[in-house]
Amino acid sequence: MDYEVIIIGAGPAGIFAALELARLRAGRVLLLERGKNLKERCQRTGDDVLCGWGGAGAFSDGKLTLSPEVGGHLGELIAPDQLLTLLEQTDRIYVAHGAPDRIYGEFTPRMEELGNRARRADLELIPMRIRHIGTENCPIVLDRLRQALEGRVEMRSGCPAEQILTEGSRVTGVRLSDGTELHCRQVIAAPGRSGAGWMKQQADRLGLKSKASPVDIGVRVELPAVVFKDITDAAYESKLIHYSKTFDDKVRTFCMNPYGEVVTERANGLITVNGHSYAGKKSANTNFAVLVSSAFTEPFDDPIAYGLYIARLANLLGKGAIVQRLGDLLSGRRSTRERMAKCLTRPTLTDATPGDLSFVFPFRHLQSIIEMLAALEVLAPGVYSRHTLLYGVEVKFYSNRIAVSSELETEISGLFAIGDGAGITRGLLQASASGLLAARAAAGRLQ
Ligand SMILES: Cc1cc2nc3c(=O)[nH]c(=O)nc-3n(C[C@H](O)[C@H](O)[C@H](O)COP(=O)(O)OP(=O)(O)OC[C@H]3O[C@@H](n4cnc5c(N)ncnc54)[C@H](O)[C@@H]3O)c2cc1C
Repeated sequence: MDYEVIIIGAGPAGIFAALELARLRAGRVLLLERGKNLKERCQRTGDDVLCGWGGAGAFSDGKLTLSPEVGGHLGELIAPDQLLTLLEQTDRIYVAHGAPDRIYGEFTPRMEELGNRARRADLELIPMRIRHIGTENCPIVLDRLRQALEGRVEMRSGCPAEQILTEGSRVTGVRLSDGTELHCRQVIAAPGRSGAGWMKQQADRLGLKSKASPVDIGVRVELPAVVFKDITDAAYESKLIHYSKTFDDKVRTFCMNPYGEVVTERANGLITVNGHSYAGKKSANTNFAVLVSSAFTEPFDDPIAYGLYIARLANLLGKGAIVQRLGDLLSGRRSTRERMAKCLTRPTLTDATPGDLSFVFPFRHLQSIIEMLAALEVLAPGVYSRHTLLYGVEVKFYSNRIAVSSELETEISGLFAIGDGAGITRGLLQASASGLLAARAAAGRLQ
């Protein structure tokens, strides 16, 4: 045996698995990362955004969602009290490595009142407790986590795992892209969303059961922070759910950034939009995504291809991200530079092309987004303003969900599949928690 455990992917899931294995003194552990080291990563270009030491969240604004119902499916695999304890333990590790003490979104009478107001607006408010690390602090926290692993776990960057090796129904090791075969007792696969295609390939090759997850497609909405101040002051990040009148589709807000900035993201050769906020620096605007969930059955069941197709169409028309004033969209005309100059919401993303999102979205999605914005107007007057900005497109892909046990072990003995790449989680805290869970099981087997 070269190692007791090999971990594939140094995102939050892989890092927390490594930390736990080191704490439990599990023997020789190797953490493989196909991207660059943390310090060599450029912030927002190319593959570096999603790949490299620290994973996809390295340059995010680091919102740790403490509420168990958000950020993943761990709640479907383990008991509610076990999940709560696990999330608390994970959160404490972040705090011990520099995440701030403050928690937003504690349940207060004001939150209850907001929830009631949301119901009157045909919306459901999901309260969320959040710890906000902040864009500028995420790399610092990650660097401290890395230092905590130094000398206890072997770490290799720029080193992709090519194949998971098995014998019968047992895992035996990992083949690297240079052909080297490394043997081990347990493998923890944590390749994240950027490695989801690879994970699916491995799952198919090994005969592991998996199922497609829906794709979420929509826009990033930007408006003056004062419009949502009531809500963001009380809840910081609120998740609001609406079922659209015309299609009865689930539409939700996602990743709310009070006083934040809209940014572009480059992955799979495509430019999409996202948002973030700093812990210290504030803009005049709040941004959040409005996303419509789409699932398919047969003969087509490839939601990722569908999402990529829509993003490609937006890039074709806009040569990148597109921005449109809501007023222009509702009047059936494109936004232009001249019209944007008259926009009272000053865009924080300045290199999006003023254009027409109605050329991009299918009727179903556009209608659902517009109906959601109209519902939000009742809760927060000003959302449905002509000057509200819509950036397109924002697409959230979720990986195929691999069938795992309550310890996150696959049908192959000794092979664990965790984090976003296995479709088990969708956020920093649950991804990290999945690392702890799998590491404990793996360490238990070694004994
Ligand atoms: C811009 C942005 C902002 C975000 N903001 C938030 C937020 O505020 N709050 C929140 O909860 N979530 C946020 N997320 C989501 C969060 O980052 C992810 O849920 C989380 O990083 C998932 O962790 P993971 O370890 O499963 O995967 P990842 O973080 O994706 O890490 C997987 C790692 O595995 C590596 N890898 C892939 N394949 C291989 C291979 N074959 N061999 C070796 N290495 C491989 C990848 O390079 C990557 O570094 C954000 C995501 C993005 C992109």
